[in-house]
Amino acid sequence: MKLNTNYRVGHIISITIAVTLLLVFINVTYGTLLFHSVVELFCVIIGITTAIVAWHTHKHTQNYFLLYLGIGYFWIAFLDFFHMLTFPGMPFVNLSTANITLHFWVYGRALEALILLSAPLFLTRQFNALKVSAVFLVISFLFSYFAINQDSPLFFIEGQGLTSAKVWSEFAIISALFVAMVFYWRAKVSIASNVRLYIVLSLLSTISAEFFFTQYVNVYGMSSQIGHLFKIASFLMIYFAIVQTMLKEPFSFLTLTAQSYNAIPQPAIVIDNTGMIKQANLAAQSTFTIPSRNNVHFHAISHDPSISEVNCEICQKAAAGEALPTKVFENLRNGCSYLISLTPLQFTDHNAGFIQIAFDVTKQVEEQRNLLLAGTIINNLSEGVMITDVNSKIISVNKAFTLITGYAEQEIFNKTPGILSSGRHKKSYYAAMWKQLNSHDYWRGEIWNKKKSGEEYPELLSIKALRNESNDLTGYIAVFTDIATFKGVESKLRYLSYHDALTGLPNRLMFNEHLNMAIKHSKRTQTKFALFFVDLDNFKSINDSLGHAVGDDVLINISKHIKSILRDRDIVARYGADEFLILVEDININDNLSHIAEKLINSLASPIHYHIDIPIFTSVSIGISIYPDDASSTEQLVQYADSAMHNAKDAGKNSFAFHSVDDNRKAQRRLLLETKLRQALEKNEIYVVYQPKVNASTYEITGAEALVRWKSTELGEIYPDEFISLAENIGEIHKIGEFVLHQALAQVKKWRDLTKQNLSVAVNFSSKQFTCNNLNKTIEAALNTHALPAAALEVEITESLLLKKSSDIHMLLDSISALGIKISIDDFGTGYSALSYLKNYPINVVKIDKSFVDNIVVSHRDAILVKTIILMAHGLGMTVVAEGVEDKEQLTYIQNEQGDIIQGYYFSKPLKENDFIALLKSWDADQIKTDNAVDLSLIS
Ligand code: C2E
Ligand code: CA
Ligand code: CA
Repeated sequence: MKLNTNYRVGHIISITIAVTLLLVFINVTYGTLLFHSVVELFCVIIGITTAIVAWHTHKHTQNYFLLYLGIGYFWIAFLDFFHMLTFPGMPFVNLSTANITLHFWVYGRALEALILLSAPLFLTRQFNALKVSAVFLVISFLFSYFAINQDSPLFFIEGQGLTSAKVWSEFAIISALFVAMVFYWRAKVSIASNVRLYIVLSLLSTISAEFFFTQYVNVYGMSSQIGHLFKIASFLMIYFAIVQTMLKEPFSFLTLTAQSYNAIPQPAIVIDNTGMIKQANLAAQSTFTIPSRNNVHFHAISHDPSISEVNCEICQKAAAGEALPTKVFENLRNGCSYLISLTPLQFTDHNAGFIQIAFDVTKQVEEQRNLLLAGTIINNLSEGVMITDVNSKIISVNKAFTLITGYAEQEIFNKTPGILSSGRHKKSYYAAMWKQLNSHDYWRGEIWNKKKSGEEYPELLSIKALRNESNDLTGYIAVFTDIATFKGVESKLRYLSYHDALTGLPNRLMFNEHLNMAIKHSKRTQTKFALFFVDLDNFKSINDSLGHAVGDDVLINISKHIKSILRDRDIVARYGADEFLILVEDININDNLSHIAEKLINSLASPIHYHIDIPIFTSVSIGISIYPDDASSTEQLVQYADSAMHNAKDAGKNSFAFHSVDDNRKAQRRLLLETKLRQALEKNEIYVVYQPKVNASTYEITGAEALVRWKSTELGEIYPDEFISLAENIGEIHKIGEFVLHQALAQVKKWRDLTKQNLSVAVNFSSKQFTCNNLNKTIEAALNTHALPAAALEVEITESLLLKKSSDIHMLLDSISALGIKISIDDFGTGYSALSYLKNYPINVVKIDKSFVDNIVVSHRDAILVKTIILMAHGLGMTVVAEGVEDKEQLTYIQNEQGDIIQGYYFSKPLKENDFIALLKSWDADQIKTDNAVDLSLIS
């Protein structure tokens, strides 16, 4: 806007200078008479042009203010025309005195002042143009009459120059113009800034002209000529003001409209009455290839190329001048389908053409076709199909469903599948089914249902959750086969072909299907699954010595036994004579797998009794492969698990092996650690170290975190990261946890006695420890044993504990907190980390995980995160501990962000009991603060 105005002002100044130079040239070469005539004629032309423009464009712009100016300037031009004609020396009238011409002049200026002063009235008001013109006409005629017929007041005396009457009327006009100028200058809001600028400039020019017209003695004199130059400038400005707004702005608006038209994402084409393209927006240009120069018919580029223009429905409509309401045209162009509409463009009284808008609906059309196809297929299936919405309300069933159950679609619509329930299954059966459906989106199993007739029947049922593109649940589809009453033997056969007749377990075929499904599921959810190949070690000898009947019994019992050890959703199949396959989905760490394998092996340590009343010992060898780590195809996974099983057999049977060498090594170390860990406490190999926690602003030690250590005589120093999860798995964690608690409390007692300060010790508690409902009692008893107040202890838990959302855990935490013990959230930021969520629990302290502190200096994101955690924690009244602070920069950042407590190698590594006491004794907070460094000799 600013630039534009500047540009225009420059433009106008150059025009004005050019005109001035031309006029000066005329004046010098041909004399003042011609000069005056040209100037005035020029102004008259400008006045009339302005009026014409304003008159004709007004109905589009509706700008009454400018229309008023336009009409006004026409009548000013009228008076100026006579002023020109009556100029002394003009041939037509041949007047000797300048009095008449000056009368016309003064009246013209008076009219101009009147118009400019009154124009603002029409910034907001409307008027009847004819009436206003009539008023001006009357005024102008009156003025003309006065100018011609009245000599007085006398404005000019030949030889003497201007009379005081003339000078004073000029000054009166100057004052009026000045008032008008001040008004326009200040009327910022209601007039467009460029128009305002032109009017003010015009007024300034008129004022200057008037001033010069008070100065001359001779109408041919210099002052008069300069005054006329200013007059031209003044008229030019008014011309620009009106042309600018009335003509240029509507055009720029039109350009803008064209741009908005380009912003429409759907292809839009404007055609004339003959179908020729007049305009195409950007979307149309990119969707249809439109040749840039040639005039083309819209049929050629946007309609079905296989039919001619005369047969084209859209073209027919256009030819008939009719609108086409939106309609889908399939396969219109390049196999794409469009929703097309044709709207006539009405131009005042006639139709100027059409606008054709096309929506690409290829995808929707295809989906609809697929749906139709799916509908037909489903209706012709021999399996019953039932589709429900998210709330399990039935929305559709197929013919086979009606055939099997006896319910017609309308009878069962909007009911829940509960209507089919036979009552044979316990609640827990359905609960397990829903649990798996919710976690895996899929369930398959046998279920007893009831027909409309009341007859009960078993069906093989698969249920799958339906999700839309954004993965929201939209409903369920259930497909089932009646496996009792068959239309023929085929469905029974199908069932048999998927199951092992002896054990009832899924057979190889069905297991492969499960495997395929598991692969798809893992791909989608980015999870892993494991395949266990289980082989009986001594089956051949059982068969040989006790006979096949006993062998069969062993197989049946073993299959039941395996199922009982595993989770409900793990799938067990009989793969060969004495081979079983197990599918364990959604695994996270391999350690869990060795655990399952061990459980299976150990559970067979006691004999299984059979009806023949003799105990039979069985043992198994297990091979494990993992998807996708080991292989990505079903065949390979099975093959790898099989060969791993043979490795386990070679290693002496009754054991397990992973396919991957790495996993095997880990499993072996785990086994070794496990055996050793069971004896560690008795062998006094477990001890506790203490890492000081330091107040971030005073540098005083506020206490320490107790960290467990294991120094095994055989295996050396083992860190908690490795053995804590092991201890949790084998149930040793309870004993170890209690040991650490007592050790820590005994120490904090010593520290308190030594320093006479209320130091505290923070003890880590595993989630597993919270499975003991009397944990609060254990802790309370421990505090009593050591004669310590609750404030001496802080309990550190991890977010994962809270995520269990168990009411028992909530109660335990509440009662521990009620004792007065502070509870802190460890490793904050690594889990789900919603502080607002922590609000619901009695949390006092947040420990920002080391991984964030590590990066605060280098990662902007982590720095912001730490800052935010501190802010929010403080907002919730929690204390913030920064863990793993190793250097000065990290310390300074935490201090600047008002973190409360520092724990980390910067101040000290975890220390043995005596070293910690030595540290307490020698700790000089003020000294460390001033030195800005820690004397490492104290803590080495
Ligand atoms: P944690 O509770 O987050 O403990 C902090 C860990 O960070 C400790 O490792 C500590 O030595 C280490 N650390 C502290 N400051 C720094 C530092 O400036 N730089 C570096 N690089 N490391 C630092 P630690 O002792 O190996 O303990 C590891 C984890 O084992 C603990 O993490 C905790 O989850 C668990 N843990 C330790 N003791 C026990 C215990 O008694 N019971 C239970 N349940 N878990 C424990
Ligand atoms: Ca901790
Ligand atoms: Ca931590």
